[in-house]
Amino acid sequence: MSKAMDTDVQYLPGVGPKRAALLRSELEVATVGDLLHLYPFRYIDRSTVQKIADIHPDQAYIQVVGTVLKVRLFAKNGAEITSEQVRYNLANRLSVIIGDDTGEMEVVFFKGVKWMHARLVPGKTFLFFGKPQTFNGRINMVHPEFDAPESAQAGVLTGIYPSTEKLKTGGITGKVMLRLMSAALELVLPTLEDPLPDYILQEKGLVPLSFALRQIHFPADQNALAKATYRLKFEELFLLQLSLLKQKYVRSRSAVGLPMPRVGEAFNRCYESLPYDLTGAQKRVIREIREDLRSGHQMNRLLQGDVGSGKTMVAVLSSLIAVGNGYQACLMAPTEVLAHQHFNNISKYLAPTGVKAALLTGSTGTAARREIHAGLEDGSIGLIVGTHALIEDTVVFKSLGLAIVDEQHRFGVDQRARLWAKGAGGIPPHVLVMTATPIPRTLAMTLYGDLDVSVIDEMPPGRKPVQTLCVGENKRIAMYNFIRDEIAKGRQAFIVYPLIFESEKVDYKNLELGYEEVIKQFPEPQYHVAIVHGQQSAEEKAFHMGAFVAGRANILVSTTVIEVGVDVPNASVMVIESAERFGLSQLHQLRGRVGRGAERSFCILMKGYKVSKESQKRLDLMCATENGFEIAEEDMKMRGPGDLEGTQQSGLPISLNIASLARDGLILSDARLYAEHVLEQDPALEKPGNTSLAAELRKDKYVRKDYSQIS
Ligand code: ADP
Ligand code: MG
Repeated sequence: MSKAMDTDVQYLPGVGPKRAALLRSELEVATVGDLLHLYPFRYIDRSTVQKIADIHPDQAYIQVVGTVLKVRLFAKNGAEITSEQVRYNLANRLSVIIGDDTGEMEVVFFKGVKWMHARLVPGKTFLFFGKPQTFNGRINMVHPEFDAPESAQAGVLTGIYPSTEKLKTGGITGKVMLRLMSAALELVLPTLEDPLPDYILQEKGLVPLSFALRQIHFPADQNALAKATYRLKFEELFLLQLSLLKQKYVRSRSAVGLPMPRVGEAFNRCYESLPYDLTGAQKRVIREIREDLRSGHQMNRLLQGDVGSGKTMVAVLSSLIAVGNGYQACLMAPTEVLAHQHFNNISKYLAPTGVKAALLTGSTGTAARREIHAGLEDGSIGLIVGTHALIEDTVVFKSLGLAIVDEQHRFGVDQRARLWAKGAGGIPPHVLVMTATPIPRTLAMTLYGDLDVSVIDEMPPGRKPVQTLCVGENKRIAMYNFIRDEIAKGRQAFIVYPLIFESEKVDYKNLELGYEEVIKQFPEPQYHVAIVHGQQSAEEKAFHMGAFVAGRANILVSTTVIEVGVDVPNASVMVIESAERFGLSQLHQLRGRVGRGAERSFCILMKGYKVSKESQKRLDLMCATENGFEIAEEDMKMRGPGDLEGTQQSGLPISLNIASLARDGLILSDARLYAEHVLEQDPALEKPGNTSLAAELRKDKYVRKDYSQIS
């Protein structure tokens, strides 16, 4: 874009080094371009003037025309002072009572008191503009702007920009901001270049950038604002998709993949001995993976599937394809509990194949570890299951061909990169990333825009719906009785406590108190209660977990360590304590632990006395639906995509400025299709009509690490 955009903001009229420093530290605005890309988060219709009687404190900014009735000055200590004393700067507060034909209200000033006092003369009428609030039970406005009453303009929308206390005290008020925007536009518009070529503006019916920038800051009317907003959102999402798809295109042409042309004996034997038929979705996904593996290009695939959709089976069969072609496979899980469980399940499936599997975790003993290292190096171990222990430098494969990562969001980028470096002959292994956090389509398209995505959108048959209910403390006794009934029928129950920071001791109090209470309610020898949490040693954890999995313990009290993957089909009750403290997708994950067996299952959300509106909405949604994707969409709407659980670490490839993944799904889909269309015509963006696009994609924010190495 133009040079003017790159100008340091301090050279804008009215800025200077001091204000420039403020803009930088408070708003991350360094250049004129940054400033112009700081859009109003709201607009105020300055043509509306309110009556005092209609004002209430939860209104945003309002305008009111009032006549000054009474002016009083107060010193710091609260004592009233005279206007004489103001001259000596003793005054600390100016209180002005204004009135219109419906009532009276107070406006208050703490700064520039002398100046205000000189102008707000009783009998004069002004247009006041500010945010109403309550103080001592009465409505007032602090530091409103004020002007001549006729300055209320018909149909003018005034932008409100993000602001901070420091900006305001530094003199960068809303009004000043508007002046800066105006100066910035004046500087930039004459030489502004549009990154979107004319043909795109025409085909998509978009307004030019110059129009969009002017109207987003100074809308002529609602219609012009809507056009400007749409154009800027489309541009943002289109360029993002274009960059992602272009990278994907480049990679799919260049990244060499280990050749795996066969399915192999092991795959067939395992497949034939499965105790059930694969679901249609599982079959489809395995076909997709098989195609990738024999394509000669490196696979980079994300496998999404709701809790219980049967991803493990897909992992096993994929691994066996690798083994059938003379390679090894590894499956990395985020927790020890889960790695153990995977290993136990997988060993069963592998039994008829003769393929050797092993388990490597942080608590594998030295002797066993040495043996496993040797087995990996000489190739006798075909499939290794483990935790982070797998990425240690001491782990060397003979010929790693496929790396599967379960619940990928728990791994850092660096950790993944270390695993990819272990590929056979220095070629990165094929990569399958599995996640049970259903990611809304719009988010997946952006987060993983350069990966291929497979979705298991079908549950294995026989999964019963889980009945979910949300109750308060008054139902606690009933809840315990309900668990007793279920135990009497031979079932088991989970009781989960919130523990947001596994490392923080304070949170354990809840869990410990809860455990004591549960033991009192379910005493030995009639009952047996197991407990699992993050501060136990691996042996302790395995012991308790084992007791529950084997059915020796009736109840498992735990923190969210059981969230991921634990499979106990006989468990029919999931109680979630202080459910209001959990996020939606976490609740969904937890609920997915039950309903896996043939029995009817229940999820009981225990809520505290004080539940915020937001939390109640989450709990209501949990009771209303079991659809993980629906829940994920809602979660994103409620929390915003940056916050979406499970995605914080992967993060958005670039931060969005105006578009929202939660709200602008339609624009995003359209932008993606259109980006595909543009790249089909001109894959390398070399045609003369696309030079501005190519130049835009060379900017820092679009140039990122090669995701084939890290995702
Ligand atoms: P995920 O990892 O996707 O949450 P799992 O792989 O743990 O799910 O599978 C959940 C349960 O469903 C397991 O007990 C598994 O044995 C079973 N399962 C998987 N695929 C099928 C199928 N096609 N038919 C019946 N049961 C299946
Ligand atoms: Mg799983």
